[in-house]
Amino acid sequence: MIDSSFKDAGPEDAGLKRERLRINEIFHSLQGEADAVGYPTVFVRLTGCPLRCQYCDTEYAFHAGDWYDLDAIVEQVGSFGARHVCVTGGEPLAQPNCLKLLTRLCDAGFEVSLETSGALDIAGVDARVSRVVDVKTPGSREAARNRIENFSLLTQHDQLKFVICSREDYDWSKAYLREHGLSARCEVLFSPSYTQVPPAALAEWILADRLQVRFQLQLHKILWGDVPGK
Ligand code: SF4
Repeated sequence: MIDSSFKDAGPEDAGLKRERLRINEIFHSLQGEADAVGYPTVFVRLTGCPLRCQYCDTEYAFHAGDWYDLDAIVEQVGSFGARHVCVTGGEPLAQPNCLKLLTRLCDAGFEVSLETSGALDIAGVDARVSRVVDVKTPGSREAARNRIENFSLLTQHDQLKFVICSREDYDWSKAYLREHGLSARCEVLFSPSYTQVPPAALAEWILADRLQVRFQLQLHKILWGDVPGK
């Protein structure tokens, strides 16, 4: 149930919002990225993000949204009949109640994934959640926000994602993988920045270097283009 009365709530209402989250959209689509790619999935997009990546395709989620009870979110997710749920943003971890939502969704029996920028602490995320953690490259203009402390928390259940904006970004990412020993921690995804790097060029660079990373394209953009709610 949407409660718009909380839309403009100030800090004095914080206590009332303990079991609520500000949600930009909830929709049903195919998972376009990472390990669960291709599965029918319900996406819960949380409002807000403290980063400003130059290639961001969800700027519409920076501010717009309504407050939902956690119960209402879980109920709405269930109404689509999908096994997979992806909690995304924005930066979902920017709202502390996101941790409670993730646990509630796991308890309800869903296969839950979390898409996060890599700038915030992932330590409190329920261990049943598959975490897809970005490593921001220089081309994103947010590389200074990478939270290196997160790397030691990653398991084989998680994935690291690099969005590559140029050949320089690719070379930087290769060096970063080595420097932090990331390939041994979890699966690593390299994705071309939409409209900035031709997908075939990135594929060729990976093959030429015999780099042990997983190339991926955003399936939803191939199917539907760059549109919200897909
Ligand atoms: S972290 Fe994600 S939502 Fe935030 S600005 Fe970067 S791409 Fe956009």
